[in-house]
Amino acid sequence: MTDLMEPPAASGTQVLICPLCEATCGLRMSRDAGGRLQFRGNDEDPFSRGFICPKGVALADLHDDPDRLRTPLVRRDGRLVEATWDEAFAAVEEGLGRVIAAHGRHAVAVYLGNAGAHSLSLMLYLRVFLTALGSRSLYTASSVDQMPKQVSGALLYGTGAHLPVPDVDRTAYLLMLGANPYVSNGSLLTAPDMPGRLRALRRRGGRLVVVDPRRTQTARHADEHLFIRPGTDAFFLLGMVHTLFDEELVSLGRLEPHVSGVEEVRALARDFAPERVGAVCGIAAEDIRRITRELAGAPAAAVYGRIGTCTQEFGTLASWLVDVVNVLTGNLDRPGGAMFTLPGIGGPTVRGVPGRGRGARFGRWRSRVRGLEERLGELPAATLAEDIDTPGEGALRALVTFGGNPCASNPNVARLTAAVESLEFRVSVDLYLHETSRLADVVLPAPSPLEASHYDVLLGALAVRNMARYAPAALPLPEGQLPEWEIVLKLAATVAGEPGARPEWTQVDDLAAATVASQVAADESSRAHGRDRDELLAAVSGERGPERLLDLMLRAGPYGDGFGAHPGGITLRALRQQPNGVDLGPLQPRIPDTLRTASGTVELAAPPLLQDAQRLRQRLAETADGAAAGGMVLVGRRNLRSNNSWMHNVEMLVRGKPQCTLLVHPDDAARLGLVDGGAARVASRAGEVVAPVEVSDEMMPGVVSLPHGWGHGLPGSRHAVAAEYAGVNSNLLTDENAVDPLSGNAVLNGIPVIVEVADPVPA
Ligand code: SF4
Repeated sequence: MTDLMEPPAASGTQVLICPLCEATCGLRMSRDAGGRLQFRGNDEDPFSRGFICPKGVALADLHDDPDRLRTPLVRRDGRLVEATWDEAFAAVEEGLGRVIAAHGRHAVAVYLGNAGAHSLSLMLYLRVFLTALGSRSLYTASSVDQMPKQVSGALLYGTGAHLPVPDVDRTAYLLMLGANPYVSNGSLLTAPDMPGRLRALRRRGGRLVVVDPRRTQTARHADEHLFIRPGTDAFFLLGMVHTLFDEELVSLGRLEPHVSGVEEVRALARDFAPERVGAVCGIAAEDIRRITRELAGAPAAAVYGRIGTCTQEFGTLASWLVDVVNVLTGNLDRPGGAMFTLPGIGGPTVRGVPGRGRGARFGRWRSRVRGLEERLGELPAATLAEDIDTPGEGALRALVTFGGNPCASNPNVARLTAAVESLEFRVSVDLYLHETSRLADVVLPAPSPLEASHYDVLLGALAVRNMARYAPAALPLPEGQLPEWEIVLKLAATVAGEPGARPEWTQVDDLAAATVASQVAADESSRAHGRDRDELLAAVSGERGPERLLDLMLRAGPYGDGFGAHPGGITLRALRQQPNGVDLGPLQPRIPDTLRTASGTVELAAPPLLQDAQRLRQRLAETADGAAAGGMVLVGRRNLRSNNSWMHNVEMLVRGKPQCTLLVHPDDAARLGLVDGGAARVASRAGEVVAPVEVSDEMMPGVVSLPHGWGHGLPGSRHAVAAEYAGVNSNLLTDENAVDPLSGNAVLNGIPVIVEVADPVPA
């Protein structure tokens, strides 16, 4: 059984960790006099210190949403109808079994959405399902978001799962590209209350510089904002690298013996003088040189690039160059620079001894049509549609989604939706009937986030402070609802082995625990290294499900009790007794221990990166020839009250001023005849939309912006509020053929578009 607690008494409060975004704020839940749930920030949480955003406040509405799914659904005679869990799993076994028997296991695709990063059950058990399924056809939201950062991290440090984060609480200079933490609350950066942390940076005399095609909310609160042409961050950063060498500002400091490839980077940067790259990125050469000098001269500084630097044609190069600047200025792995977290669990605990590993291994298989290589065990989501709809050997014939809505969030959703409709069988594990799950043959309702225990396995490894926090489920599961981990294990049991010889789901769980115990015993950086597997399992035999796996990992982790070898160390029981979490202190230097490259160094000039950099030379030459593309380009944006596509059914988050508008610079609006409140038709190679116009000088001229995650109200969805505030889907415009070649990540920013006046948007 998962950890269940009674609902809080009217006067009492219960501590939980917000499961909605990467900030992982500590919250307190209580009930008002009428018994209604209320949420506020937890002042005693040492990490979030009472911060909460409007989405956290809205957790009660999400939990109580009448449209949230509470019963399994099975498609009968073309309609989704309510079913028992047994009926639903029987339908899954029949449907997936039929596809596997006819087309093989790789014909079943799995899509993991963003929710996977916030769900302890999915974090710990999705791999179990994938192993039982035996399919290589895994697609996730990572490749429409951050895969370039993971790929560049894998090449630089040997692991794509453990990346440096800006030490925002101690830095003196923060250069931020393509990130808007005032509304995103941080991404690949777990730091509750980023607005407060950035204000503190400026209050202590530090400097915040934002580079972005839009004067974002974060840019408005910065010391300086520079517009940059979408997709050209790599040129700006390479101009900085050139300046560092040119003006003899390179200083690796303590990292000197731990970095290789500096001379190769110097050679590459030679041709990218600020005076040349300025024409590409739209930033004056003197500004590039000045910012480089400021950053190199700061007592501690960090460059941080996020989604705008990833979801573009040079995504991996831009992500790599962020780290190159940090390394060359001596800011990697030092307080106030870009540092590695040492979380309670997670980090590079596998594949190699501390300080050395086998490095990144890419391309073990390829997508079937375009031949794009796997990265970190998954295929690019941009290939999902063609991997389904291109006839012939190996075509995908079934899809299982976990907390994901690819028909809203992937490029060219018109083609992808048609492809998903053409499949023989579809299963969704989700909270809602949305753009993707409405097409499913079986829908298994995930419990409310308040009905699941929580530990941030993934996000804890990206935090700006070392922490360990566990929260039991805030509310008991209602009658008839299965915990998410049991759903995943039952799915695993329905596809494992052959019909008639399938294991019980509890046996799959026991096998998962035995696997984790074996892994931590084999891991040389673990506090359980060399111990007997069965001894470790016996020590956690009082737990089951995610709590058993979590206890194994915590006790073997860097602060763990080592199953008795380190008395006073962390255990799950100890965390239960400290509901506000355990503060494990500020980040500490971790190189070389954290490295898992084959050379044991930070490999600054990995061959795939240098090879891909040839595309930068080509673009530079085209710009010099005057052959660079002109015209309008489209970028995305986020809103504080929006969480990708899935929280638009909460009225308090979507009412008020329309959020899904096309932002256009006044000069462009005048030239195109667009007026504020009017309508614009936006067309790309992939499709077109009509959106309401919002004229604003926060946009860079030549760039328009639409937020992602909208376009609701499709037939078969059950999303009454979202349908009322439907908006348009920006992914009708994004192009599935445009990917960053090295990572396979979709290009969602810098899309060439034609913008013109349209008839008014229908009310
Ligand atoms: S910032 Fe993120 S984690 Fe914090 S309350 Fe808002 S949604 Fe939750």
